[in-house]
Amino acid sequence: MISVLGVPFDAASSFLRGPAQAPNEIRKAFHSNSSNYFTERGIDLSEIGIWLDAGDLAFDAGNPLSLLENSIQNLLTQDHRVLTLGGDHSITYPVVKAFAKKYGRLNILHIDAHADLYDSFEGDKYSHACPFARIMEEELAVRLVQVGIRTLSKHQREQATRFGVEIFEMKDWNNTIQFHFQGPTYLSLDIDAIDSAFAPGVSHHEPGGFTSREVINIIQSVKGNLVGADLVEFNPTRDASGITAMLAAKLFKELLDRLLLSENE
Ligand code: MN
Ligand code: MN
Repeated sequence: MISVLGVPFDAASSFLRGPAQAPNEIRKAFHSNSSNYFTERGIDLSEIGIWLDAGDLAFDAGNPLSLLENSIQNLLTQDHRVLTLGGDHSITYPVVKAFAKKYGRLNILHIDAHADLYDSFEGDKYSHACPFARIMEEELAVRLVQVGIRTLSKHQREQATRFGVEIFEMKDWNNTIQFHFQGPTYLSLDIDAIDSAFAPGVSHHEPGGFTSREVINIIQSVKGNLVGADLVEFNPTRDASGITAMLAAKLFKELLDRLLLSENE
């Protein structure tokens, strides 16, 4: 079973708020009559029982990071693959922590304009600019492969070297590059990896990114046992035409499809 959990959380964003509204907007776009429920591979996502919408996590009391970690852990003990929807990128650290408890050290494919490897950002070690520094420090990943990166500072290059991160910078991208992982694999998709022309609804516009098609191709072609994924950093407050919501819904469908493929392998 695949569980989908909405994560309406953007308190660790450094520049703008908004990704907390993403789960709702992505669901609306997903259910919109402007498209249908079929993935490109031909799977009908309206079929009952192939995946489950676990709703949105309620961040009402307690530490949001441990609340999220516990909720993911709860879904994983039921042997579900888990796809989280929305939130800023800070959520990936507690989510991956829960996955690593179940699976041990993971392969992580991280698609983003940013490496998110800051030791600390504006005094916050749990900022959305830091999740992969925490993940690597705690040795939650056996491999971290980053693609789409086009904002590396000197500090982040040093962090990448220190942690042995495999980076495919956007400037060096070509469409023959393929990803193959041995063992449990987690995919973290920051929608700002995609060019602002296709995805204006993000907090940090970083031109020179992927086309929508390129990222869909990466999702569809990655080899490995995909056990979980996230779709983060969609900011509906910046999405005047609703185009990014439709893109997020499309990516959601293809991520679900890819998780279903692993489930049946
Ligand atoms: Mn990010
Ligand atoms: Mn980013």
